[in-house]
Amino acid sequence: MVEIKGLEKFAPLDFPGFISATVFLGGCNFRCPFCHNADLVLRPEALDTIPLDYFITFLESRRDWLEGICVSGGEPLIWDDLEVLLRLIKDRDMLVKLDTNGSRPDRLADLIGSQLVDYIAMDVKAPLHKYKQVTRSDVSEEDIARSVEIVRKCELPYTFRTTVVPGLVGEKDLLEIAQMLHRAKRFQLQQFSRRNTVDKIFAQVDPYPEETINRLAELVKPYFDEVRVEGI
Ligand code: SF4
Repeated sequence: MVEIKGLEKFAPLDFPGFISATVFLGGCNFRCPFCHNADLVLRPEALDTIPLDYFITFLESRRDWLEGICVSGGEPLIWDDLEVLLRLIKDRDMLVKLDTNGSRPDRLADLIGSQLVDYIAMDVKAPLHKYKQVTRSDVSEEDIARSVEIVRKCELPYTFRTTVVPGLVGEKDLLEIAQMLHRAKRFQLQQFSRRNTVDKIFAQVDPYPEETINRLAELVKPYFDEVRVEGI
């Protein structure tokens, strides 16, 4: 059964335009060294699981004013029964925002087709040729490309997101990503956080200065309808 490892009962920034909360599911099929959710990714079994009954009671108690739930991770799509969780939310007339790393395009398409998702935030970790290196996983680049097209072509609002990390994902990579996503509606450039990283070496890496992040955002603006910066 899908395991909820964290619940942020009020997460005003996570679901653009809606009063929302966020659930964090344990486990991920990537090992991005800069990931700041090390416990969720590497040691989910060491974290308490929030009982589904508790989550249902939470949804019921907030039904009158909570508009949406952000389902995040880890990677939510690794859970085969994710639909169960999403239906609990949708049955209470709340919207679902799904955060995903894009590695499971068929699952993503199924959830969209079943109308269980209302907003998609897909991380684009690197240019396709660097994906295995940046995610330290055996990801299929073809699957990532398919997810990009699924998100781009679906009728739902969406955001593609990239975290820039000195020494790993820099300006050249960002431009390649922007070219791949060219004409996508929304792109979010994310500052790297060195708290609780999957690879402890990245706790020593200084994030790009704010002016660099802003310059990179300007650089990719021509490729998208809208570019946002997060984390500075
Ligand atoms: S940053 Fe990478 S390792 Fe961390 S949750 Fe996202 S996809 Fe998984």
